[in-house]
Amino acid sequence: MQTGTALPRSLTDARHQAQSCTRCPLYKHATQTVFGEGASHAPIMMVGEQPGDREDIEGHPFVGPAGKLLDRALEEAGIDRRLVYVTNVVKHFKWEPRGKRRIHKKPNAAEIGACRPWLDTEVALVKPRLIICLGATAAQALLGRQFRVTAHRGEFVPSPLAPFVLATVHPSSILRAPDEEARHREMKQFTNDLRTAARALSSK
Ligand code: SF4
Repeated sequence: MQTGTALPRSLTDARHQAQSCTRCPLYKHATQTVFGEGASHAPIMMVGEQPGDREDIEGHPFVGPAGKLLDRALEEAGIDRRLVYVTNVVKHFKWEPRGKRRIHKKPNAAEIGACRPWLDTEVALVKPRLIICLGATAAQALLGRQFRVTAHRGEFVPSPLAPFVLATVHPSSILRAPDEEARHREMKQFTNDLRTAARALSSK
């Protein structure tokens, strides 16, 4: 979607238009646009940073290791995965080479800003009741650059985007935990944040 153009009529239209997006340079070195996926009126939207290596190849969000961990946490939190629309603030994989591997590189403010109309389109069309920001990039893009996930994870933040908005860590940070004990602790905290979010949704 180019700035100033009408809102696509459906997610299918938006997804189709995003396939040929060149609003920032990230499309040049990625395999394809990875648009959000889920039910068209899912009550919950989860927003991560950007697709990873696996997502870039397969063309679907949250299908790599972090996505698998997210699925497990949702199950533990009692959230039906079919109620969740998953997406990212940036739709192309940003990476740098390290040997034969492609290593994730954080998108910059210009790339996040260029991609923002796609996320706004998704929010406008899906109209989720609850948005969960996964990690600092998503949280700061949606809640302001001063927002600190470490200080305010699991807390509801007033936002025009949805009746309930909350931030927690990105599941990939749990995968990077230094040992099994830390991973277990992080997973428990992450699942608790998801439970908090789900409770608010079911109480109203
Ligand atoms: S990252 Fe977003 S803004 Fe940049 S080219 Fe891809 S879809 Fe377009």
